[in-house]
Amino acid sequence: MNVTPHIIPRSEHSISRRQIDKGVLDVLYTLSKNGYEAYLVGGCVRDLLLGLEPKDFDIVTNATPDQVKGVFRGRCRIIGRRFRLAHVHVGDKVIEVATFRAQSEERGDRVIDDQGMLRRDNVYGTRDEDVWRRDFTVNALYYNIKDFSIVDYVGAMQDLQAGQIRLIGEPVQRYREDPVRMIRAVRFACKLGLELPQETASPLPDLSHLLAEAAPARLYEEVLKLFHAGQALCVFEKLRQHGLMGGLFDQTEYCLQQPDSWSALVIPVALGQTDERIASDKGVHPGFLFAVMMWEPLWQAMERDEQELVSLDELLKAANMVLAEQSERTALTKPIMHYVKEVWAMQLLLLTKQDQVERVMAIPRFRAGFDFLALRAVAVPRFSAVVDFWQQQQDAHPEWLYQPTYVTAVEDQEVAFEEALEQTRRPKRRRRPRR
Ligand code: ATP
Ligand code: MG
Repeated sequence: MNVTPHIIPRSEHSISRRQIDKGVLDVLYTLSKNGYEAYLVGGCVRDLLLGLEPKDFDIVTNATPDQVKGVFRGRCRIIGRRFRLAHVHVGDKVIEVATFRAQSEERGDRVIDDQGMLRRDNVYGTRDEDVWRRDFTVNALYYNIKDFSIVDYVGAMQDLQAGQIRLIGEPVQRYREDPVRMIRAVRFACKLGLELPQETASPLPDLSHLLAEAAPARLYEEVLKLFHAGQALCVFEKLRQHGLMGGLFDQTEYCLQQPDSWSALVIPVALGQTDERIASDKGVHPGFLFAVMMWEPLWQAMERDEQELVSLDELLKAANMVLAEQSERTALTKPIMHYVKEVWAMQLLLLTKQDQVERVMAIPRFRAGFDFLALRAVAVPRFSAVVDFWQQQQDAHPEWLYQPTYVTAVEDQEVAFEEALEQTRRPKRRRRPRR
C-alpha cells in the first residue's frame, strides 16, 4: 500500500528525549550513526503521548538482525524463530531491536496457515511496509531519532485524541491472522482508558473460539498481562462483555453462565483485590489467579457443593482434571499447578484442623490459603467465623507463620502431601502438536 505518512515535527508533539531511557537512546543513536534508520515504535510512543510511563521501549530499524549484530557485536544476540529479533545489552538492560517487516506473501520466510493465521513472519521490509502489519492504529506511530518527528500513516494521532482503539485494515481478517489481537484490544482499552468502537468490538463474540488455536504458552503469558497489570477487574468485565472469557477460561465461563454462580460473585472481588495489591506494590502469584478462576469448575467436576467436606484425595483427583483441561488453553507449568492445589488443599486444613494451629500455620501456603478462605466467605458467610479464628491465631502467634527453619517441624506433613499429590497425578495427556 502506498500512502504518504503525516509527519509531526518535534515542535508539534510532546515527546522529549528526557522521557526516553538512556540505554535506548544510545542504541537509537548508534544505529543512526551507522547509517541505518532507527525509530521508537508502538506502545512506548503511544504511552508517552498519553502521558504514561512506557513499560518498555521497542526499537525498529531497517537493519536486518544480522546487521544489528554487526553494529553491536558482543552486546547483541539474535533470538526468536516465529519472529527473529536482536537483543542489545546496555548495562544490565536488554533492549529489543526489530527489523521492519513487509506484508508481501510471495517472498521470504512468512507462513500463513489455512485458517488465515500467521505462523511465521520474517520477511524484512521498509517502514512504508512495516506499518500495515501492526495491530491497532495507536500502536503504529514511529518516533524518528534523526529529527525527533513522529510518523503517522493511519490517523493514530486522531484516534489517540478521540480515545479509540481501531484496527489497521479489515478487523475480522486482522483478528483471524492473530486471534490474540482480540484480547490485546481489551487489555489496551483497560490499560489506557480507551474505547472499543463498534467496528473493533462487534466481531469479537463470533471469533472468540479462534483463541483455541493460539499457542497455549502464549495465551498463558497473555493472561498474566491481562490480569496482573493493575486493571484486572476492568479486563474481566470487558472480556465477558465481548464474549472472550470462554476463549481463555472455558470451564470458568461455563460456570459463570449458571444461575447463582460462585465465580460471578467472587471473581470480581478477588480481581479487585489483585488490583489493589498491584497498586500498593505487593506481590501477586499467578497460581492464586488460577485457584480463583478454577475453583467453581473444581466443584462442578466433583459434582458437589462447595460447602461439603471432601477428602484430600477426591479434591486432588478433580484438581488434576480441571487443571489439565485449563492447561490446554493456557499452558500451566507444574509449579503453578502445584501452587493451585496447595491453596485448595489448604482449605480442608483450615476448615478441619483448628486443633493443630501451630502445624497448619507453619505450612508455606498458609497465608495464600487463608486469603483464599476469606474470599470464599464472600459467598458462604458462615466461613467468616473460621476466617476470624485464623486471623486471631496469626495476631496471637505471628512467629508460627512459615519460616524456612520450621520446615523440619512440618516435614512429615509435607511428605504426606507430596505423596497424596503423586498418587493422584494423572498419566500424561497427549500434547497438542507443536507448530
Ligand atoms: P505494552 O508493551 O504496553 O503491553 P505494546 O503496544 O508495546 O504494549 P508489545 O506487545 O510490546 O505491545 O508490542 C509492540 C508493538 O508491536 C505493538 O505496539 C504493535 O505495533 C506490534 N504488535 C505487537 N503484537 C502484535 C500483534 N499481535 N499483531 C500486530 N502487531 C503487533
Ligand atoms: Mg511494548
